[in-house]
Amino acid sequence: MWLRLPQLNLARRYLWGALVAALIPLVLISVAYDRYSVNLLQTLVTNRLSSNVEAVAARMSSYISAHDTRLENIADLRDTTLFFESQDPRIADQLYDLLLLEVESPDIYAIELQGLDGTALATVPTSRALTRSAEFSTLPFVEVDGTDIIGPALPSNGRPGWILIRRPVSRQQEVIGYVAIRSRLASITELAGGLEEPGVLLPQLTVFDRIRVTPVGTEASEGVVLAQSTQFIPGWRLNLVEGGSDLDEPRRRIRYLILLLAIVSAVGLFFLFFKMSQRLSGYLTPLNTGAQAIASGDFSVTVNEDGPGELGALARSYNRMREHLEKLIASRVDSERRATLGDMAAGIAHEIRNPLTTVAATLHGLSRGEKDAERQDMYQIVGSELDRVEETITEFVNFAKPRAPEIEEVLVRDVLKSVKTLISASAHEHAITISVSGDSTLRINVDAAQLRQIILNLSLNAIQAMTDGGQLRFRCYQDEGQAKLVVADNGHGMDASVLGKLFRPFFTTRSGGTGLGLPITNQLVEANGGKLHVASVPGEGTTVSIHFPLAAGMRET
Ligand code: ADP
Ligand code: MG
Repeated sequence: MWLRLPQLNLARRYLWGALVAALIPLVLISVAYDRYSVNLLQTLVTNRLSSNVEAVAARMSSYISAHDTRLENIADLRDTTLFFESQDPRIADQLYDLLLLEVESPDIYAIELQGLDGTALATVPTSRALTRSAEFSTLPFVEVDGTDIIGPALPSNGRPGWILIRRPVSRQQEVIGYVAIRSRLASITELAGGLEEPGVLLPQLTVFDRIRVTPVGTEASEGVVLAQSTQFIPGWRLNLVEGGSDLDEPRRRIRYLILLLAIVSAVGLFFLFFKMSQRLSGYLTPLNTGAQAIASGDFSVTVNEDGPGELGALARSYNRMREHLEKLIASRVDSERRATLGDMAAGIAHEIRNPLTTVAATLHGLSRGEKDAERQDMYQIVGSELDRVEETITEFVNFAKPRAPEIEEVLVRDVLKSVKTLISASAHEHAITISVSGDSTLRINVDAAQLRQIILNLSLNAIQAMTDGGQLRFRCYQDEGQAKLVVADNGHGMDASVLGKLFRPFFTTRSGGTGLGLPITNQLVEANGGKLHVASVPGEGTTVSIHFPLAAGMRET
């Protein structure tokens, strides 16, 4: 069965790939380094120790040779031969004194004259005669070039350890006895004392892997051999044994340290890559979500643009695309709807206006012949209501089928002044003062009649909002390379719920309102290349600002 991997997105897959790619060399390097350093250390240590051990072994070997030379001299003495020939166990005084002189050397314990069976016929000095115990026959016995080496005998019962070096005494090629030097065991083992590192390295003289002796000549216990000399006498070796503490410890610690470092960096890398992949997903997922939303016709999803590098650029492109698409579709929908609405409006206007004209004419005829004052008033009311219906129809038709603007250069101040004149009577009636301020030279390219309509609509709303009097202010000036027109009042203002619906056709809060004023105004502003913005604080007033592009030649001033 195949191992099923979790579904990873592209970013995750790349990052995981990079992680694996980074980890493999890390592991390989760690392992290779570990192997290399271990081998190097081992080679260095072993080489060094082996050569040291070999040097000491050579000295031990020459120590024995030196004794052998002594024995050779003794064996050649005439008195020695005489001793064995005489078959008299007594040793001549002359020979005794001579041998005593040899024994003065501190490493020599005693010199023995042995019979053919190995029993000591005489010992110099006599006081050090050794009784042959059972142990004697179990001691290692080696013969090198006619010289016998017996021992080592380990210390026991307060008697120090020894080795016996022995040479045959011959007469006419016939062995008649032996001369032997009993040497202090410690004298040979102490040669290895220089190799000792207390607690770390212990030298051991090993004979047939059976007897182990420390540098001070005592029995040594078995241990891990780190270096070993060649056999300088058959069966005799010098070993370097691991002391109490673990020699490997520092190396092992370094290994663990390397391993730990490798693990820590692996974990670090893992988290780094994980975080990176999360971040990348964090940037890509909203883009994906946004694109899916657009595909399903929802243009409301925007994405955060502060991603790094190309991701930020992608997010910005996405947002721009989204905006463009939204506008494009909105304008398509809007123009289609407007076309339908326009046709409908024209139809309705026609169907209503014709009977309305008949009604108005009839009413006029009736009112002319009417003498009764009360009825005259009623005709008057019906007449003005008919006028209102007519007005609303006109407004609706204007909204549904607006006239294309006839662009010309307009001095904004002139338009503001003319609107002021137009509404001054009504403003006066409501105790409202009107002020015009700002750049008197400000010129823009718009349809003058439509601009007047725009300002008038906004002014009427402002007046309607200031039921208890107030101030209506017109301002015009240059603002960041654009022309800005402001109509501000200090009327009752609007709350957020009203502000949100301002441009919806037929939305009104006034009993006599049509709810078409602001939609028409906004439509006219956009048709003339402007942008309208309403700000309002309930109870304080409303400020409507409109931006238009400056007329050519205005920009430099
Ligand atoms: P109408 O004037 O026929 O109500 P509008 O589209 O001109 O339609 O205005 C819609 C609504 O917006 C108004 O009914 C009113 O509630 C609110 N409004 C518009 N202008 C102002 C203003 N300057 N101050 C307070 N409210 C306003
Ligand atoms: Mg209005």
